[in-house]
Amino acid sequence: TRQRLVLGNWKMHGNQADNATLLSALAQGVQAGGTEVGVCVPFPYLAQAQQALSGSTVSWGAQDVSAQEQGAFTGEVSGAMLTDFACRWVLVGHSERRSLHAETDAQVADKAKAALAAGLTPVVCVGETLAEREADDTLAVIARQLAPVLALGAPAVSRMVLAYEPVWAIGTGRTASPEQAQDVHAAIRQSLEQLGAGGVRVLYGGSVKAASAASLFAMPDIDGGLVGGASLVADEFLRIAAA
Ligand code: 13P
Repeated sequence: TRQRLVLGNWKMHGNQADNATLLSALAQGVQAGGTEVGVCVPFPYLAQAQQALSGSTVSWGAQDVSAQEQGAFTGEVSGAMLTDFACRWVLVGHSERRSLHAETDAQVADKAKAALAAGLTPVVCVGETLAEREADDTLAVIARQLAPVLALGAPAVSRMVLAYEPVWAIGTGRTASPEQAQDVHAAIRQSLEQLGAGGVRVLYGGSVKAASAASLFAMPDIDGGLVGGASLVADEFLRIAAA
């Protein structure tokens, strides 16, 4: 049995004042024993998240990590720096990193490996564009994106979380239907099982709202959500976590 997981991805939003309100609402609003809940915040707010969420059941993490351990890599942030702030999670290969920062499938796998080495749980994101879906390439694209990650082997992959985020559903208000998402999740589950890592959680992301969460999470291979916009509004995010 895979414990349900709901993660917020704040993206490049927030400031100390708004974060304080949001984080304290989450710290108070999430009870132990149910859905596991975490937030992935911008780097400068990791210390604030750590302080506000320590002692609560809400975990925290970052949105990117360097593939390198340390050194002359201006602007990069290492896995060890993230664990220094007691991060549990780090997103890897989000579609915005892939498209706006040209991250390749191989680099994404390297980052996932670096995250594991630092003791973080990488949340590896995959997903097709609208053009790829319309060309019937969805499963081939997902397989290509996952290949170098799965090549890290079952012991490594077993310690990860995967997220299916169709690019056309991100920030568009256009959620994949539960059936559309389940089709892709089932294919991902099959490759995980073939590898011997069938227990890995696979989250769905892309315009998840309180109103759509329950029907998505009811699908057999959808283990929770990766939530963008709706994670910035405390009661909406808490309702998704409780869906
Ligand atoms: P939205 O929930 O805003 O569509 O964002 C999804 C996402 O990209 C989460 O990583």
